[in-house]
Amino acid sequence: MERLRLAIQKKGRLNEKSIELIKKCGIKINSSGNILSTSSENFPIDVLFLRDDDIPGYIADGVADIGIVGQNEIDEHGANVKIIENLGFAKCRLSIAVPRDTTYRNINDLQGKTIATSYPNILQAYLDKNNLNAEIHTISGSVEIAPAIGLTDAICDLVSTGSTLLFNGLIEVEEIYTSAAVLAATPFLTENKQRIVDKFMQRISSVKHANAYKYILLNAPNKKIKDIIKILPGIKSPTVMPLAIDGWSSIHTVIPEDAFWEKINELKQYGAEGILVTPIEKIIE
Ligand code: AMP
Repeated sequence: MERLRLAIQKKGRLNEKSIELIKKCGIKINSSGNILSTSSENFPIDVLFLRDDDIPGYIADGVADIGIVGQNEIDEHGANVKIIENLGFAKCRLSIAVPRDTTYRNINDLQGKTIATSYPNILQAYLDKNNLNAEIHTISGSVEIAPAIGLTDAICDLVSTGSTLLFNGLIEVEEIYTSAAVLAATPFLTENKQRIVDKFMQRISSVKHANAYKYILLNAPNKKIKDIIKILPGIKSPTVMPLAIDGWSSIHTVIPEDAFWEKINELKQYGAEGILVTPIEKIIE
């Protein structure tokens, strides 16, 4: 039987979450140590562990069939791949930053300056769009150090928490692009491989769906059940079970995590007690 080749990042920000997603999809893989590839024993997938900036090229050439990679890597390499799912993790922004003591009013202050980056194509497109001339120095790592060692006036790099900028005495002045992890596929998928991708996608969507929801259990006085059900409608309807003491029931339901925080006070006003919130592994509808 044909097997699908899935490329994921070997080391770095996306590695752990990519492995977690594969495992949550019920696909068993060996992710230990320094292995460069592994075959799942219970799903027709082989996983290749690669450098993230190589992944778009491997997918575009059909060496890997699909891959989990930052949108930024795909756009920087202009790779001919199809984005089939936004995975939502590894959210970051590509920003221009300058040393803290620089006088900076607006983007026109970048005119004629030197900027270090690992993303020259995305940066050049931004400069062109804003009719700016700046000299780009392409470097592959430790970009944040460039102004301190006198290499450039500014940098353009990925920012997540902002702590690396802070640590290097830089302040973010322009956010030029936002990115997150995506699942991308080669344009050359065979029919058989497409079928495996569809199965994988079905599992990913049930995991993604489950991540956005919580299972909630609470005890409530019987006379308030109707009010509580109105604010906790659940997937079809909540389960209501009598407790061993008169006049009380246990209500079980599924709720979007964001909504839960909004409803907690209302639930308490209706006399809800012993509220338990637990993660859901998968939701299959
Ligand atoms: P932070 O200190 O959390 O803002 O992270 C900044 C450092 O991590 C920079 O060196 C970035 O190049 C790198 N980084 C942040 N987010 C990502 C991401 N989603 N993918 C790859 N590298 C990232």
